[in-house]
Amino acid sequence: MFFNVAGLLRSEMGATRGFSISGETLHTLDGSIVDINGPVRLLRTDSTILVSAKLTARADAECSRCTEPAGVELSFGIEEEFRSVNTDLRMRRGTREEQAGEDWFTIASDNLLDLSEPIRQAAISAMPIAPICDAACAGLCPKCSANQNSTSCACAERTTDRRWRSLEALLAHGE
Ligand SMILES: [Zn+2]
Ligand SMILES: [Zn+2]
Repeated sequence: MFFNVAGLLRSEMGATRGFSISGETLHTLDGSIVDINGPVRLLRTDSTILVSAKLTARADAECSRCTEPAGVELSFGIEEEFRSVNTDLRMRRGTREEQAGEDWFTIASDNLLDLSEPIRQAAISAMPIAPICDAACAGLCPKCSANQNSTSCACAERTTDRRWRSLEALLAHGE
């Protein structure tokens, strides 16, 4: 997801550009983030280009109850600074002080600002911790692991897994 910012880098501080992202896809280690949409605003600050975006997307996840695929809707914002390798915007103003702990992305020598990495990071952190395929997902049988959405297994309702017995004893003891 590249945006040419050559013009914006030459502009005065405070100049802005607006773009929109529509139907883009990004790949992650776990799968894909698809249908990325939303407006992007670029602002030329004194030494960087500040990118603000409000995006929505969809991602593939695994249902935390039944382990079947679960599509999740993502909604996230981005606010990141980009610094050009070509133009030291700050040097042009005659001040070169660097602030410790500053964090920014880099605009390569072709003046193309690449939003892929910030979007990937924001989308991943917007992922739900426990995605579910459906609010009514019945999950897997704790005894035989049958998917209870599609199968009704023969396991008795009130049998207690041996592994839980000691825990139940502990809980009873604590009362
Ligand atoms: Zn499920
Ligand atoms: Zn079962």
